[in-house]
Amino acid sequence: DASFVSCMNNRTVQVAVRVRPLLGNEKKPCLEALYERKNLTSHARDRSRRKHHSILRVGDEEGPTYCYDEVFPENSSQEDIYEHRVAPLVDRCLAGYNATIVAYGQTGSGKTYTMTGPPVGDNEIKESEVGVIPRALRDLFEGLEARSDQSVAGYSCLVKHTSHVRVQFLELYMDDIRDLLRDPDDKKPARKVTLRCIGEKEPDVIGSCKPTVTTADEALELLKKGLQRRATGATSMNATSSRSHAIFSVMVEQQTTMTGAVSKGSHVKRSRFHLCDLAGSERQKRIFSDVSDAQQRLRKGEVCQINMGLLALGNVISALGDPKRASSNGYVPYRDSKLTLLLKGSLGGNHHTLMIACVSPAVENKEETTNALRYANRAK
Ligand code: ADP
Ligand code: MG
Repeated sequence: DASFVSCMNNRTVQVAVRVRPLLGNEKKPCLEALYERKNLTSHARDRSRRKHHSILRVGDEEGPTYCYDEVFPENSSQEDIYEHRVAPLVDRCLAGYNATIVAYGQTGSGKTYTMTGPPVGDNEIKESEVGVIPRALRDLFEGLEARSDQSVAGYSCLVKHTSHVRVQFLELYMDDIRDLLRDPDDKKPARKVTLRCIGEKEPDVIGSCKPTVTTADEALELLKKGLQRRATGATSMNATSSRSHAIFSVMVEQQTTMTGAVSKGSHVKRSRFHLCDLAGSERQKRIFSDVSDAQQRLRKGEVCQINMGLLALGNVISALGDPKRASSNGYVPYRDSKLTLLLKGSLGGNHHTLMIACVSPAVENKEETTNALRYANRAK
C-alpha cells in the first residue's frame, strides 16, 4: 500500500476543490487563475502530516486564500479528478475499506457533472466527459475480475475468489428517504425506507432495494434509471433535484476460499462505497425570488433542512479530520442529521472520505463560491 499512502498523505479525510469553467453568458471570473501548488514541507506545523497543498485565492491579491489537498482548475478533466482522487479510493474499497465521496456546492457548480457526467438523456456522452461514478464502477469490477483463482504450488491448495456486488440508490429529501431503484410500476405498496439505529452501531437501511449486479454495465443501467426517477420525482413535487441529496452506494463482498489437503477455510471482506451528490448549498435569498407565499414556506423548510444536513456533515467531517479529536476518541455528531447517520459506518476509522467542493468561477457567484470555499476549508 505504499503508493496509496504517499498519494493520500496518510489522511483519511481529503478535501479537493473543483472550479468549473465559465458557462455560456458568464464572462468575468472571480477566481483569477490564482491557484498555486505549494510545497509546504518547510511549514513546521504541518511537516509530518501534509506535504503538498493547493492554495486558492478569491478575487485579487487582497482576497482571502484557502488551502486544500488539491485544487482542480477550470481546465481539469474528469479523468484528472478520477485518477488523482478517486481511483485510490476504489483500490481501498477492493482492499476491504469503506469510502465516501461527497460533492458539495451551490446549484450549478458542477456536482452532478463531476459525479455522473453530463445530464442523462444526452445519448452521445463523450468518454472524456464520463463522471466519477461510472469510472469507479468500471475499475471496481475490473479489480474484482483481476483476482483470478490460484493454485498454491507445493501445497496442492486452491485459492478461489468470489464476489457479490449490490447497489443502492437513495434520495434524501427533507426528512424522507426515497428509493430511486424501486420500480414505479411495482404493484406492491412501497415500504417506507427508514433507518434503524441500534446503539452506537451504524444504522441499517430498512426497506430499500439492493439489487445484485454482476457487471459495471448492469450497475450503470440502474444508476441511469435512478437518475431519471430523481428528475421526474422532483418535477412532480414541484421541486428540483437540486434540493435533495442523492446517495449511490455500492456494497462489495469478497470471499476467498482455500481448499486443499493442508489448509482449508474462507474469509469474507466487506466494503461499501457511498457516492453522494449533495443538495445545493446556496443560501435562501437566491431561491426566494418570484414564488408564492406557500411555496416560499415550503422552500424555507427545505433550505433549513438542507442547511442543517450540510452543517452536520461539515461538523462530522471536520471532527474526523481533526487529529486531536480522532486520537482522543472524541465525540463525532453523526446523529445531528439523517445524512450523517446514513453515512456513519463509512466515515471515520479506517474509512476514507473525500469531499469535492465544486465552485463556479463567475463573478456573480462570488458570494456562494466564497461560502463553499470556507465550508470546505473548515472540513479539512
Ligand atoms: P450541479 O449539479 O452542481 O447543480 P451541474 O453538474 O448540473 O451542477 O452543472 C451545471 C452546468 O455546468 C451543467 O450544464 C454542466 O454540464 C456544466 N458543467 C459543470 N461542470 C463542468 C465542467 N467541469 N466542464 C464542463 N461543463 C461543466
Ligand atoms: Mg445537480
